[in-house]
Amino acid sequence: MEDSKISVDIRVVGDGNRGIYYPDTQRVIVYLNKHESYDDLLKSVNHELIHHCINICGETMDEDQEEKCIFCMSWADHSLI
Ligand SMILES: [Zn+2]
Repeated sequence: MEDSKISVDIRVVGDGNRGIYYPDTQRVIVYLNKHESYDDLLKSVNHELIHHCINICGETMDEDQEEKCIFCMSWADHSLI
């Protein structure tokens, strides 16, 4: 398993993404101006940290697979299955 250390940087203003994970440097940046509430911000931090977890566990997924996996995890509590 790779080093699990990660840094999370919350910036006030950003263009485009709500947040981004950089696997090579193990950094997360989340942009405050792209969120409606504190809970919304925390959801983005959690989203990016799951990308990190997938990365350090050595899973081989493309970006689309990672996004689908995180989406399913986010909705798991509300699933009817
Ligand atoms: Zn993502």
